[in-house]
Amino acid sequence: MSNVFYRSSKSYPVAVRAGGVFIETQDGRSFLDGSSGALVANIGHGRTQVAQAMAAQASRLAFVHGSQFTSDVLEAYASRLADFLNLPAFRFWAVSGGSEANESAIKLARQYHVERGQPGRFKVITRVPSYHGASLGALAASGMGARREVYAPLIREDAWPKMPKPDPTLSGEEDAERLRAVLEAAGPESVAAFICEPVVGASDAALAPNAGYHARIAAICREYGVLFVADEVMSGMGRCGAPLAVRLGGDVTPDIVVLGKGLAAGYAPLAGLMASPEVYGTVMDGSGAFKHGFTYAGHPVSVAAGLSVLDIVEHEELVQAARERGAQLLAGLEILKDRHPHVLAVRGQGLLLGVVLGDPATGQALARPGLADRVAAAAHEEGLLTYPGSGAVDGVRGDHLLLGPPLSITPAEVDLLLERLDRALARTGAAVP
Ligand code: PLP
Repeated sequence: MSNVFYRSSKSYPVAVRAGGVFIETQDGRSFLDGSSGALVANIGHGRTQVAQAMAAQASRLAFVHGSQFTSDVLEAYASRLADFLNLPAFRFWAVSGGSEANESAIKLARQYHVERGQPGRFKVITRVPSYHGASLGALAASGMGARREVYAPLIREDAWPKMPKPDPTLSGEEDAERLRAVLEAAGPESVAAFICEPVVGASDAALAPNAGYHARIAAICREYGVLFVADEVMSGMGRCGAPLAVRLGGDVTPDIVVLGKGLAAGYAPLAGLMASPEVYGTVMDGSGAFKHGFTYAGHPVSVAAGLSVLDIVEHEELVQAARERGAQLLAGLEILKDRHPHVLAVRGQGLLLGVVLGDPATGQALARPGLADRVAAAAHEEGLLTYPGSGAVDGVRGDHLLLGPPLSITPAEVDLLLERLDRALARTGAAVP
């Protein structure tokens, strides 16, 4: 009997080691990591350079508490990160995971308005569908009915007005203008922030708005005195072929950028937010303290991992690699779409790609979701890991797979991924619907 509290009643393979894009299990199987876990392992597995940096940091200075110290490694990292993201003068607030980072962003936005004498601004507008994390605040912000409903009495609905997801049939500007109606209905003087994923990940298969969307969102937020928060936990750090996905369709600088996953690429728990000088300055010049904090925030070993990961991302030019390998993978997925009618669409940016699945007869999602799980299970048997998403999301029913291998994947490994996915799709197509 195991003493592990598993996520579900299915049986889990026991991972024992990993290198590059492959993960090996105790029973001798090898899996191509087509999703970097949950879009985390951006530099690939088993990089000893990162492990050595962490070991050296743990020997020299393993822990200090953020209420008593900053650290040399945190100071160095915050400055390197601001350069990499081209967010000069932004301040880095470090935490351990994406949910904590979004909790921090929501609380910071709220406190920013309190400091400015507008305590009535407590609402946060988010989109449907969306995913911002599993902790209660981040989950409340998320437009994912299926994940929220069990905890519903704890989540106050009127604090989280919802905006529809991007509509690729509209221009970016028209699409973004729909925020205005949501703001007006919510009462603009009660809204603290608008949060969105620049390229939607877990909840909607790499859906991106058209160019011009984020710049218009930023302008509307400014007009109404609302903070624009970009949740780049999945899409940031080069994953979409740019340091920040929010800038793919035009120059824009959000007030707060939320980061996670690729920051330390799975070598250590590291996430955080970048706050604009205006947001940081308002709090520091006001009450003088962000009324928030986690024990492990800015953990030196995690930050050392982040620094070493950034060295690799820059030295190996992995942001450009994400663009090049992403184009190769998307072209291959287009071919698979033509071969397999239950693939309705393929899309995405860089190496954050989505495969939309459904009924070939109607071209629509199946009434009963679960197709993505079937394809993911077949892919698993073919030695390929994918990230399936399915189920009813606030009335939007759909099945999809996310693909997002490490940015360090080679061209030959992209071909291998496509071969394995091709076989998985061939095995599942006949059984649809
Ligand atoms: N925000 C986005 C956009 C995410 O995709 C995720 C996780 O998938 C989170 C937040 C939550 O991050 P974590 O699971 O590290 O708490």
